[in-house]
Amino acid sequence: MTDEPTLDPQDWSALRAVFHEAVDDGIAYLAGANDRPVWVPPPPEAIARLTEPVPHGPTPIEDIYATFRTSILPYAVGNVNPSFFGWVHGAGNAQGVLGEMLAAFMNCNVGGREHIAVHLERQVIDWCKALMGFPETASGILTSGTSLGTLIAMTVARDARADGDVARDGVAAAARGLVAYASSEAHSCFAKAFDLLGLGRAAVRIVPVDADRRIDCDALERMIAADRAAGLKPFCAVATAGTVNTGAIDDIARVGAICRREDLWFHVDAAFGAFAGLVEEHRAEVAAMSGADSMAFDFHKWLQVPYDAGCVLVRDAGAHRAAFAARKEYLAGAERGLAGGEPWFCDYGPELSRSFRALKVWFTIKSHGIDGLGAIVAKNCRQARHLGEVVGRHAPRLELLAPVSLNIVCFRYVPEGASPEAANTLNKELVADLQEQGIAAPSTTTLGGLTAIRVCLVNHRTRTLDLDRLIEAVLRIGREREGRLAGE
Ligand SMILES: *Cc1c(COP(=O)(O)O)cnc(C)c1O
Repeated sequence: MTDEPTLDPQDWSALRAVFHEAVDDGIAYLAGANDRPVWVPPPPEAIARLTEPVPHGPTPIEDIYATFRTSILPYAVGNVNPSFFGWVHGAGNAQGVLGEMLAAFMNCNVGGREHIAVHLERQVIDWCKALMGFPETASGILTSGTSLGTLIAMTVARDARADGDVARDGVAAAARGLVAYASSEAHSCFAKAFDLLGLGRAAVRIVPVDADRRIDCDALERMIAADRAAGLKPFCAVATAGTVNTGAIDDIARVGAICRREDLWFHVDAAFGAFAGLVEEHRAEVAAMSGADSMAFDFHKWLQVPYDAGCVLVRDAGAHRAAFAARKEYLAGAERGLAGGEPWFCDYGPELSRSFRALKVWFTIKSHGIDGLGAIVAKNCRQARHLGEVVGRHAPRLELLAPVSLNIVCFRYVPEGASPEAANTLNKELVADLQEQGIAAPSTTTLGGLTAIRVCLVNHRTRTLDLDRLIEAVLRIGREREGRLAGE
C-alpha cells in the first residue's frame, strides 16, 4: 500500500459483492415491472433523505446502495411498467442495460481518436443509413435525443443555405431573413432550435394541418410564395413522421417534392416514426424519409434502448462537417497513434466529450434483431387499433378525438349533460387519478378545445390486458366523477 490517493477500493471483493447484489436487484426490478404500480410519487421522506450538504467525507458503498434501494429506486417515472402510456417514453430493455453498464466500465470519450468505440458508433450509424434508405456517403452522429439531433440538423441547414459564412460572421451578418416551415403539430424542439440558432422562434412558420392533422401542403406552398414576395428567404421545410399529439404522419413525399422544387432543405422529424418503416403496413407512409437532406430520430423511444440515445443523419457529409469542425492545435489529428481515427465525431456536433452511447444501441439491436424490434412496433400499432375499437364500442360514454393512424389513441370520457369545461376538468382529474392510484399513466393533450386522455404505445411490455384494465378504470373513475358532478 502507498499513501498516494486513488479512488479504487482497498477491498475489491466487497465492492464486487455490492455490484452483484445491484445486478440481481436490477434484474428483479425489470422482471417484476408488470407487478408494481406504474407510478409512486417520491414521498417527502425520500426527498428529505436525499437533501444534505456537500458530503466532504466518504460514505461506505453499502450504505449508499441501501439509500438507493429505499429512497431512489421505487420512485422512478414508471416507463418500464407496461401501463405507462404517457408522452413518448420507451420502456428500455434488459440487454440494452448491459451495454449501458459496460460502457460505464470502459468510460470511453467518443469525441474522436482511434479506439473501438468510434468504430462501433460508425457501425450503428451505417445500420441506420441502411434502414432509413440514406446513401452510404451520408454522415451521422449519435445524440442525447431528437432535440439535439434537430439542433444539429438545423445548424447544418442554416449554414448550408445562408448567403455568407454564419459560423464566422454570425446570423445578423450572414443569415438575415431565413425562414423555415413546420406544421402546427410539429414538436417544440424546432422553436428551441431556432432560438438557439439565433434565427428566432418566429423564423419557424407554422403551417396549418388538415383534418387528419397532417401538414397542409397547399398552405405550405402559399406560405413559401408569400414569404418570398415579402423579401424573406425560405430555406427549410420539415415533415413529421409521427406527431406527438396523435401519431399523424405528414405526406413526406409531397413535402420533399416541394422542397426540391423550391430549393429548400428537406428535414424529417422521425423521432419515433422512423421505425414505423419496420412494419409492412406503414412502410410506404414513411419511405420518402430516404430522400431527406437530414433526419433525426430516437433509439430510446420505439427501439427500446435505455435513455438516452438518438441519432441525426445528414445526406451531405461535407456540409455537416463544415457546420461544426473547429479544432485547435491540442485537438489535431494524426496519421498514426491514438490521435488518428479521422473523421472525429466532435466535428459533427456541438459536443467534444461524448459518451459511448453506441454500445447500448448495439447490444439492443444485436440481441433482438431488427425484426424482433419491428415485431414490437407492429404489436403496438395493433394494440392502438384495438384500443380505438374498444373506445368506439363504449360510445357515447367514450369518444375518440383523433383517428388512430399509428400508435397513439386520443379519447375522452363524456359526462352526460356536462359543459365542455366541466368535461375537460373531469378528464384531467381522471388522468391524475389513474396515475396516483398507480393503475396506468396516460398523459393528456388538447384537441379542438377538448381535453384528451392520450395513450401512446411504444412499450414492448404492454399487453392487451393492460389496455382492457385501462378502459375498465377509465369507465369506473369517469362514472364516479360524473356522479359527483351531478351531485354538485
Ligand atoms: C420525442 C420527440 C422529439 C424530441 O426528442 P427527444 O429525444 O425527447 O429530445 C421530437 N419530435 C418528436 C416527434 C418526438 O416524439
